[in-house]
Formats: sequence, C-alpha cells, structure tokens
Amino acid sequence: MYEAMVRLARDILAQPDWRKGAAMAVARIGMNLGVDCCSLYAFDHTTDSFRLIAHEGPFSDQINQLSLPENTGLVGFIAQRAEPLNLLDATSHPAFTKNSIIAESEFNVFLGVPMVHNRKCVGVLTVRRDSQKFTDDEEGFLTSLATALASTIAHAIEFGEIVATPNYHRHRVQKKFRAIPSSPGSRIGTGFVLYDDLMLDDVPERETEEPEAEFQRFLVALKAVRDHNEKISQSFDELDPMHQEIFNAYLHILDDETMVEEVKSEIFEQEQWAPGAVKRVFARHIVTLEEIENFYLAERGDMLRDIADQLLEKLQNIQSRDRNNPPANAILIAEYVTATMIAEVVPDNIIGIVSKTGSANSHTAILARALGIPAVMGAMDLPLFEAEEAPIALDGSSGEIYINPTATTLDQYKVRIQESASFDRELEALRELPAETIDGHRVQIQVNIGMLEEIQQALDNGAEGVGLFRTEVPFASKKHFPTEAQQLEIYRQHMLAFEPTPVTMRILDIGGDKELPYFPIREENPYLGWRGIRVTLDHPDIFLVQVRAMLKASDDLQSELRILLPMISNLEEVCFAKNLVDQAFEEIKDEGFTVQHPKIGAMIEVPALVFQIRSIAEQVDFLAVGSNDLTQYLLAVSRNNARVVDLYHEFHPSVLIALYSIVRDAHRADTTVSICGEMAGTMEGAALLLGMGFDSLSMNATHIPRVKWLIRNLSYESCQQLLADVLAMDDATEIVDFVRRHLQHAGVGKVLASM
Ligand code: PEP
Ligand code: MG
Repeated sequence: MYEAMVRLARDILAQPDWRKGAAMAVARIGMNLGVDCCSLYAFDHTTDSFRLIAHEGPFSDQINQLSLPENTGLVGFIAQRAEPLNLLDATSHPAFTKNSIIAESEFNVFLGVPMVHNRKCVGVLTVRRDSQKFTDDEEGFLTSLATALASTIAHAIEFGEIVATPNYHRHRVQKKFRAIPSSPGSRIGTGFVLYDDLMLDDVPERETEEPEAEFQRFLVALKAVRDHNEKISQSFDELDPMHQEIFNAYLHILDDETMVEEVKSEIFEQEQWAPGAVKRVFARHIVTLEEIENFYLAERGDMLRDIADQLLEKLQNIQSRDRNNPPANAILIAEYVTATMIAEVVPDNIIGIVSKTGSANSHTAILARALGIPAVMGAMDLPLFEAEEAPIALDGSSGEIYINPTATTLDQYKVRIQESASFDRELEALRELPAETIDGHRVQIQVNIGMLEEIQQALDNGAEGVGLFRTEVPFASKKHFPTEAQQLEIYRQHMLAFEPTPVTMRILDIGGDKELPYFPIREENPYLGWRGIRVTLDHPDIFLVQVRAMLKASDDLQSELRILLPMISNLEEVCFAKNLVDQAFEEIKDEGFTVQHPKIGAMIEVPALVFQIRSIAEQVDFLAVGSNDLTQYLLAVSRNNARVVDLYHEFHPSVLIALYSIVRDAHRADTTVSICGEMAGTMEGAALLLGMGFDSLSMNATHIPRVKWLIRNLSYESCQQLLADVLAMDDATEIVDFVRRHLQHAGVGKVLASM
C-alpha cells in the first residue's frame, strides 16, 4: 500500500491538469482501498460550500453538481475540525444529514480526511464501503494522499476554477480577505493584476465575452512565435542540419491548421480566453504523447510544451501592453509586488497595493509607505484572477481587502477616506512646528528616504533632516554600479534640498531581500550571510567610490554629512570602515574640495551589539537603531515571510528591553541615538520610543505629520510612565492593546483611527 501511495502521490503532482489529477486520485484510491465510492470535495468560495469535483462510484453524474453547504454534514464536520473521521456507521454520527454525502445507503462504512493547505481546509476526501471499518493503515494512506492533493486543489481554488459557473465576472459577489496591514489608508479602486510569467500548467481557466478579440490575440501571438522560430531556423541554415531539422519540426507544429482550428473552437465554442484555449489544446496533445512510451513521441511532447510556453509568453505581452500604464485608480495586485514593479507601473496611477507574499517589513512595504500608497501584504488567499479588473476596497491600516464590495461596504470606505482627508488638512498646520511634548521635551523628527521623488514630500511634511538615506535604492534602479559622478549628482540633490539640516547617508546595504540586478548574491540563508557592511568592506572599491561621492556632495554646504554603517556586528568592522572614510576624506581634500570630516555612525541592528553599546559609542559619533532587522534577528523571525508574520513583533518585551538598554547605554556614553526602523512611524511605537529617550525618530515622510501631532499632544512624563508599565508586561499583543488604550485615554485616539 505504501508503494502505491508514493506512486500515486508522485503521479498527482506530475499531472498538469488538476481535474485529471483529481479524477486519477479517486479512481486509484478506489482500486487500492477496495471501496465502493471515493469522492473529492473542494471548497467553492463563490457559494461557501464544498463542491464534488471528482468521484468514483455510483452517482458520478453528480460531479460538479453536488454542493454541500460549509459547516454542515459529515464533510462540513471534517472540514471544520480539520481531522479525519473514521466511522463504522456514517448514519449514526450526529453530524450526518441526508444530504451530507452522496446518497447510497448501503455504503455506510465511512472514512473522510481533510485536505489542508496553509492552515485552511481546502477540501475533503472521502471513501465508503458496505462493511469493515477502515484500518489505521488505510486512514494513513488516505491522509497522505489528501496532503499530496491539497496544494493542487488550493491552486485550483486560487485560480477560481472551483465554482458553480466559471464566469466570475458575471458573479459580482463581495468577498472579504484579511492580510497584513502594511501601509495605512483606505482606497476604492479597480484591480490591476500583474501575473508572473504564465507557464502552461499554471494558466487559469477563464471565460471570455469577446471571442473574436481573443482569437485575434492568439493569431498575433502565433505569428510572432512563428517568425521568431523561423529566424532561428534560418540562422542555422546549412551549417547544422540537425538543428535545422528541429526547428523545421517547430514550424511544422506552428503551421498545423488542425491546431489552429482546435484553439479556435475552444475560444468560440467553449468561450475560453486565448491562454486557456492554448493550454487546453496543447495539454491534451502533450498528455496523449506522454502516455505512449516512445522516445521520439516524448521528444515531440517536449517540443509542444516549449511552443505552448512561447505562445503564452507572447499572449501575455500582448495582453500586458498596458502593463506599465495602469488605468486611473488602479490597485496593483501580484503574487509578489516588488519595489521595481511599483516604480515601473507609474506610481501616479497606483492608489493601492496588494501583494500575496511579503510582509509589512519587506522593502516593498517600506516603499509603499514612503510613497503614501495604502498597501496590504501577505494576502495568500486572494485569487488573482478574480481580482483582475474587479472593484476593490482596500484598507492598508486593518489589512482588509474586498473584491466586489457591496454598496454598504463602499459607503463605509467613503466615510473613512473623507475623515482621513480632513485630518490631513489639520496636520498641514504643523509643518514648521517642532516635535515638542506639552511638558517641553523635544525630539528630532527626521525622514527615511530612498528616491529623489520623496524629497519634496519630506520637506512639505516638515522633516528635520534625513535620518536614513537608503542609498541602495538609487543603486537598484541602475543597470550597473553607478559611477562616482552619477552618485555625486544624486547625493548632492539631497544635501542641497535639506540644507542646513543633517543628512544621514547609509553605506550601500545590499543582501537579504535587497538585490542589485547586476550584482546577484545567491545564498542559502541570505539574511545571515553577505549583507550590508560585510559586502562593502570586502569591496573597498565600492565603499571608497561611494564615500568620495558623498563627501564631494557636501562640498561648501552647511548641512552636516553623516555616514552610517549598516549591519555592523563587531568593532573591527567599524575601525576598518573608519579608515576607509579617512582615506577618502584625505583624497577629496587633496583634490581641493572644502569639506568637513563627516560624522560616522553605526547601525545597531545585530543583537550582539546591544551588549557592546559603550565600546561602539567610543568609536563613532552617533548610533542609529535599525529596529526592523534588530527585531528579525532577536526573534529569529524573517521580516519578509508572511508565514511567520504573527511572530514578528517589534513590541515583543525583549525587543523593547533591548531598545531601552541601547538608549541608556548610549546616553551614558554621551552619544546621541536615533531609531529609523518602521516602529518609529507607528503611533504606539513613537509613544514608547519617546518615553525611552531616543534623540531622534526617523520615518517615512507620510508618517511625519501624525507622529508630530501625537508628540505635541502628549507629555514626556506620561510616555515615561507608559514605558515603565509596559516593561512589566510579558506579551506583545497585550502591550500594543495597553498602549492603544493609554493613547485613547490621553485624548489622542483620533490619530490611531486615522492610521
Ligand atoms: C532597519 O533594519 O531597521 C533599517 C532601518 O534598515 P533596513 O530596513 O533598510 O534594513
Ligand atoms: Mg536594516
């Protein structure tokens, strides 16, 4: 039985068409367990029910027809508890209802197991026979297969393929999803989905209402693929007859009129969109060829797959001619929205972002906040296909996403949007005022910056200098390492814009989730590998050019240039980096520039340094805490992984204790300390960090007005007391709730609601 299971699990995974995989599974399970019927139900979220999608046994006409309401009957019971149910007599179970399984009263011995994917029950697999309770081995067999099938079924659900009717756009049903709040604000817009490259096996089924347009799209793609292959074939002309033969075979397939007719019939008769039609036709032929054990035919199957992928790629390009030019009020949605995507698709038209992966601390989220675009990350369950061109309501503060919101939901969102806009107007008056508490304690509010486009917003919002310039951002938008002259131009614009306030430029911080397209770093465990200062100290060439450009940018200006060293994990790195800065400084002076020696600071983001603050403080002029990485390393939780996002908590008592200890040790060593992690821009974080005594809070420009408003409405003393209370607590969620309640009592709840 074990071997049969391994073979079947392997075959299920290898099957490109999930329907065939499901049908094969129930047939072979039936055979192996000697049962009278085997049924596979998958969750259909258009009707909140479990739909029979594969079945072996009597009543097979019920496939795709029978739908069992969620939470009722035996299937619902199994799904709810996410546990197997093994019964000698199904009818005597309290959850049994007449319609709870396919009717067939004599098969009362029942075994059902849940199919669980990402903690959610996506389906239920059941078997029945007329006598003999299922053994433990049989239960284990079925459970293992359910596990193998779960991701296939989850995938089909995600692509909207488990539905009563395949045309979702005719079904404007409101669907609510909740994911990770990543950039505050509410928006109403239209889903603008960017797909990764579609491969044959991943193409979703989708009905079209415009068959003629779809067919034309297909013909254009076909011609482009044909031209491309012909060109290649000609380039091998005479030189290599074998290669030419292969390409001739490709052309032969592309010229095959039967293939064109079959695609046409899928589009016109089955109302499939062009990629779906290509998938259906090619998958059909590939499976037939693969079933025949013949080397030559298997090769031909590979050829078909290659051609299908080429066609799909072309179809995608045709479809995405507007990829870089989204419609107005677009909500950008993708499997993983990258920072480059945001930059490429004209941020002006993007009013919201939803990413299925990533978390609030990934650099994509940081960029969204910097641009003031509401964003939700880690929306694992959101079906991309259903969101495409659908009305979307998004709340980046709570993490709520609605596809096809109802009129009531829309009204609620409109009120929220209006309230936030009127508070924004109130905040404008604070621009020139200091961040000073009602009992006279002042703190600097600075900006975290990365793109030139952010400068104006930072100035408009009243930033008192730059607390963190992520220089890797301009590096990432280039095709090669920027030269000294190119860097100088960018840095100079920052120095001039913020004159006379200080500008803190961080040395290139790559590695982890920050990659330069022209300098890939492939590592098994990138967050613990070659990151930040480790890279640039190994490459003094990169380091020196950057510092030279920074120094030249400060030529003849009053603003203080501060150079910040990222990912420092020991004193030796600081000394080595300082020597390089000195070298660059001497060079620049010798070249005739009028520059002051820059202030040098170390980032405290590696936990080891929390215990060496005094020694580090002796070596540098200032400290800047990177609470994003410090949290990730203290808690051993990736800042970029939606799976463990609940464990990533800046308000974890250990993180707070570490932060407080850093401030105290820095001040004892007479060194100023700022914080530039994301928590500085949150209301709960700002109140606690103020209480700890941080000299400066650095955050995205969008957060500055609200944080300033908060500080101007609180007393330093009350924040110190709040901190003392919080430090006696054990749990992050309890701490956040407590801080929120405190802020409500202090009369500043309005700012929480506006985030
Ligand atoms: C941090 O780690 O907190 C930080 C500010 O740096 P980055 O987010 O760029 O890693
Ligand atoms: Mg960091």
